[in-house]
Amino acid sequence: MRRAGLVVWGAHQVAGALVKPGVTTGEIDQAVDRFFAQHDAVALFKGVPGKVPFPAACCISVNDEVVHGIPGPRALRSGDVISIDTGCSVGGWCGDSAVTHPVGTVSAEVQRLLDCTSGVLALAIQLMGARNRWSDVAQEMAHFVRDHGFSVVENFVGHGIGRKMHEDPQVPNFCSPAFRKNHDFEIEPGLVIAVEPMVNMGTKKVRVLADHWTQSTVDGLPSAHFEHTVAITEAGPLVLTAPPAEGEMVGTAA
Ligand code: MG
Ligand code: MG
Repeated sequence: MRRAGLVVWGAHQVAGALVKPGVTTGEIDQAVDRFFAQHDAVALFKGVPGKVPFPAACCISVNDEVVHGIPGPRALRSGDVISIDTGCSVGGWCGDSAVTHPVGTVSAEVQRLLDCTSGVLALAIQLMGARNRWSDVAQEMAHFVRDHGFSVVENFVGHGIGRKMHEDPQVPNFCSPAFRKNHDFEIEPGLVIAVEPMVNMGTKKVRVLADHWTQSTVDGLPSAHFEHTVAITEAGPLVLTAPPAEGEMVGTAA
């Protein structure tokens, strides 16, 4: 899974380097698609079933789009935020990661939204090494976001990942009594989950657009999304979509 995670990380470097005003979301997607092909990786998002199968290697969601945006002719403008979410499999094992980038110059409040969302992902990974049950991590994630004055999206959650991109368990970024009672899980060695907080500047409510995929905030305010694939080992959390460590290279990890 680390091999897949490194290729996903590499794809994000290619994508992130392209993010600037005037570039289209379709151009970014095509670059990621080529990168996966060069590394004998299977693009996992293509063909995901829905009313129409998902058509691209990346979900690219701009501004008020939360997740599942379809790349295309939209050109980025300074002040936008762009969430790029992608995943691949290598040798039958999967990796999945998302990053939200500022385009050109963004407002201070938008930057605070990005910092809060990347911060709550970092907090979750740290807490995975310090808590026994996911409900306790999720509760602290929700409090972190609330303390920033933003909203955790509740309609979409993280997931187990392994041979398939989406496996059990469901991994919410908030804790409800029903989750604690019926769906909570132990954080123990062998668990591998994709942790992916989605944070809205305004209301948590989202709606689906006419393309059957793109999820947008109901109030039109911006949203951010960060994701890592994280394994629990005997030594603690290991981020499988993290940058290469010394001695590691994309495409050659042991
Ligand atoms: Mg993802
Ligand atoms: Mg995911």
